[in-house]
This record gives sequence, structure tokens and C-alpha cells, in this order.
Amino acid sequence: MVEAEVPDARVGLRAYAIEEGAVPLTVPTRNSLGGWPFLAEDQEWPKCFCGERMALFFQLDIPSDVEPFGGDHLAVFHCRMHNDYADPPLTEGRLADRYWEAPQMPGPSPFWKVLVQRQATLPAAEREPSVCALPLSLRPFEDVPDAKGLGSQICKVGGAPSWAQYPELYRCACGADLVYLCQVKENWEFAVYPGAPEQPYSWGGTYNLFLGNEVYLLACPDHCDPAAVWPVNQN
Ligand SMILES: [Zn+2]
Ligand SMILES: [Zn+2]
Repeated sequence: MVEAEVPDARVGLRAYAIEEGAVPLTVPTRNSLGGWPFLAEDQEWPKCFCGERMALFFQLDIPSDVEPFGGDHLAVFHCRMHNDYADPPLTEGRLADRYWEAPQMPGPSPFWKVLVQRQATLPAAEREPSVCALPLSLRPFEDVPDAKGLGSQICKVGGAPSWAQYPELYRCACGADLVYLCQVKENWEFAVYPGAPEQPYSWGGTYNLFLGNEVYLLACPDHCDPAAVWPVNQN
């Protein structure tokens, strides 16, 4: 007699669901949509090549058990005027030197900036003017990959990416293989204040990241630069 096969108990990966709060923020808060970006000393609010200050979409402190980034601060900026997808600049099988400043359609440098850094201690004096300042919370959960190894398809830190198309991995210019850190769900609509200028390719009263693609943030485990992060776009 042959017993029915019992599927392996799949091991969940520690992850944190990113959840939006509803009560507007009135003071700088480290985990936020919009709000006051926490930056390192001497670091300026990122500007796009078009001259506009980029919008702060969200920021959060990475929980200590999301290695190798635990204790870092993640901040995601993206130009309001320029909304496109990210196209990886590759040379010799890895991302080009200083890829976070490399030419990117339609400009001479990227229209986004993603920072992962330990020293983000100071909130900017001004609040992000367009994206509504709301609290973010991180709810721990076990991200159990499915039979294909894909994690849950939500906004989250850690766990396993849910790759809408196929696994897409990159080597940093410094030689380290980038490590998946955070996933942004497809068509995440960020509420903006009444009167905020419109964003191309967005829905009324909201902004989106990278045309609303699902985004997987891959970051350099060696922290060779605060901006050594690649935003993979898929849909
Ligand atoms: Zn721009
Ligand atoms: Zn690196």
C-alpha cells in the first residue's frame, strides 16, 4: 500500500506587510507615505534632472530581522512630472558604474531616487507638498512561497518577491549581487493633496510609481552607496 504523498510543509519567510494609516500626519514620522523625508546630514532632498524636487512617495525603517538591511531607512522618491519605467543600464553583465545617476529615458539621469541608509536621522524642514502625509505601519507575517517559489502579491518588506513575469536579478556595479528588499503592489495609488499638479499616466487625485508597475526594490547588501538600489518594474 502506498500512502498519499504529504506535501512538504513550506517554510514561511519573515516579512512585513506595508499598511496605510488613515489619520493625516502633522509631525515628522519615520514610517510614512509622503511626509517629512528623513535624510542623512548634508544630504539634500533629491531633485530630478528637470529641476523639480522629487516627490517623497514613502519611507520606512527596515525591521532588524530583514537582513542585511535591518536598521536601515528606506526612502522612495520619484519625479511627479516624469513617469516612466526603469530600464537597467548594464555593462559587462552588471549594472553600470553609478547606475543610480546613469542616463535613463527620457533624461540624462533617473527620474527617481531610492535611498537605503543607516544615517537617515534628520527630518527635512518641509513636508512633501503633493503626496498626502499618512502613517505607514509594518505588520509582521510569514510569507509562504507558493509551488513556484513566489511570495504574496502585496506591498511588503522582506519575504519573497511575487515576480509578475520572471525572476529578474542584477549585480551591483561594486560586484555584489543585489538582494530583494521590498515590493510595491501594482497600481498603488498614492493620494495627493487637492490642487497638487497632475501626474502624467495617473488616475485623478493620485500619483503612482513607474506607471503603476509592480516594483521590486533590489538593494546592495554591501551598502556601497545609499542609492545603490535597483527598482525592477514588471506587470
Ligand atoms: Zn522630472
Ligand atoms: Zn554595491
